[in-house]
Amino acid sequence: MAYDSNNIFARILRGEIPCKKVHEDEHTLAFHDINPQAPVHILVIPKGAYVSMNDFSARASDAEIAGLVRAVGKVAEMAGVTEDGWRMLSNIGENGHQEVPHLHIHIFGGCKLGHMLP
Ligand code: 5GP
Repeated sequence: MAYDSNNIFARILRGEIPCKKVHEDEHTLAFHDINPQAPVHILVIPKGAYVSMNDFSARASDAEIAGLVRAVGKVAEMAGVTEDGWRMLSNIGENGHQEVPHLHIHIFGGCKLGHMLP
């Protein structure tokens, strides 16, 4: 799938749409989900133009990949969920119910999460 540079997260990255920022570094931006599904619900996105984990894993540099993983860990730590436990999730494509076509990692926590298998 080609990257749509007008998707909502691309627009957030360009500053065209506001977000409640949690963390930003060279490779990533993290912000609160607009429709939280748990007391902590944060999205971590790469700054590069990647639709999903499909092309991120194939095309991103090692620095971008490391940057995203480190940012997810750092944001979970900042959100205070590492002690009690949390969940990370990335929806991919149609079967994965991905709504926004820019790779994002959901961080959920702050309560006992439901058992989540398909
Ligand atoms: P997906 O189904 O693609 O994994 O999830 C997309 C997520 O993006 C949803 O949880 C939705 O609430 C969130 N979202 C959609 N539009 C916006 C927005 O404009 N701002 C923020 N902060 N989150 C959004």
